[in-house]
Amino acid sequence: MFKKILIANRGEIALRIIRAARELGIETVAVYSEADRESLHVRFADDDVCLGPAPARESYLKIPRLIAAAEITGADAIHPGYGFLAENAEFAEICAASGIAFIGPTPHQIRMMGDKATARKTMADCGVPIVPGTPGPIDDVDEALAFAVKAGFPVIIKAAAGGGGKGMRVARDADDFARSFQLARSEALSAFGNGDVYVEKYLERSRHIEFQILGDTHGNVIHLGERDCSIQRRHQKLIEEAPSPALTPALRAAMGEAAVRGAKAINYVGAGTIEMLLDANGEFFFMEMNTRIQVEHPVTEMLTGVDLVKEQIRVAAGMPMREKETPTLRGHVIECRVNAEDPMRNFQPSPGKIDVFNVPGGNGVRVDTHAYAGYTVPPFYDSMIAKLIVHGCDRDEAIAKMKLALESFIVQGVTTTVPFLGKVMRDAHFAKGDFHTKFLEQEGAYLLKEIAAPSKG
Ligand code: ADP
Repeated sequence: MFKKILIANRGEIALRIIRAARELGIETVAVYSEADRESLHVRFADDDVCLGPAPARESYLKIPRLIAAAEITGADAIHPGYGFLAENAEFAEICAASGIAFIGPTPHQIRMMGDKATARKTMADCGVPIVPGTPGPIDDVDEALAFAVKAGFPVIIKAAAGGGGKGMRVARDADDFARSFQLARSEALSAFGNGDVYVEKYLERSRHIEFQILGDTHGNVIHLGERDCSIQRRHQKLIEEAPSPALTPALRAAMGEAAVRGAKAINYVGAGTIEMLLDANGEFFFMEMNTRIQVEHPVTEMLTGVDLVKEQIRVAAGMPMREKETPTLRGHVIECRVNAEDPMRNFQPSPGKIDVFNVPGGNGVRVDTHAYAGYTVPPFYDSMIAKLIVHGCDRDEAIAKMKLALESFIVQGVTTTVPFLGKVMRDAHFAKGDFHTKFLEQEGAYLLKEIAAPSKG
């Protein structure tokens, strides 16, 4: 087993990994930027190293500094968390070349799934249905338009190197197409340094259903159920839950089997996620695989009792994973992402100092956060300040718990999405489990009107 793990990340996920390592009796090293000096992950790690100035490219993304930090502190493994370098195959390679274990899949697996075209081909080759789309990136607008016309509008133009909903545009007709195509390309270039895009059929009224995968070096690959992440804003997840209200046991079995088949095709090792779209007719399609721990992993942890981060560490150390089959999925779990954003101002980030921070608690309530009263939310990184996860015996109980938990989640000093999330919990369609990925766009205006009314939160 590893002796000391360096966590190449910040915020709540850095704390989450520190806890898992500590429980396994492993020492930890925190790294931080100058903007994160007062962060809890720095306080709770055994060792810490400052990487550099606030911007991520000068700190959290500086590979040579991370490797040097691991060498100086004697870390024998690096956990990348999510975001930053988590899906960077070159980083995984450099770790290996430096004699440091990368807690994640192999560089080859990261590369295969990171390139969306290769990922789609790999899945199609093993019989997993994929969303109809161009076989690879297309740079000629006329060629792309020809595909769109053949597939039928609407279509979605996506960055080949995409992530976080960036570089993604929906085109509803031929007139709209050229503009959307150029916009997606320039957005992709500025966000990822790579302007490659491809075109897919846009599935209307679909749900985002993803399967948690776990594999080890002993040939075991299982899924741990799904998460329904259809409550999104601009293709980014806000609320996740499991089980999905849209899945029957038969559909779960079919989708889960497909997800495991896809992961086995690349002998996947570690924690990963197979993301799929479920269309309005109940047909499902592979969308992409994320080769890392996800923000929403606690949903699965609460549903199954499996500690995914500890499993990642064990598996990376060459140990067999504990569960060899899909564990029992117990009850119902909902996660809300609490962001320091102002819903009334188009969800613009609201960084600043938190004066009051009261987190909810109680039976079946989990809060993963790096924030505290007196903490200053820096403007340099993403705006998530906490994840609130609740576990009920069924969906109704989980919603009731979430409503109460949100009411006692009191943050003052920065504006948060807490009141907005409370409105979603009270929405009649949400209560019925009747929603798709455009739900917030359709209900959003009405929900925002509701929070404009003066309230205590
Ligand atoms: P990213 O890698 O940026 O997270 P994804 O490929 O995971 O992008 O897609 C993010 C979201 O965009 C999905 O959850 C879904 O809401 C929407 N989306 C992506 N592809 C399609 C599609 N072909 N049809 C309908 N919605 C899509």
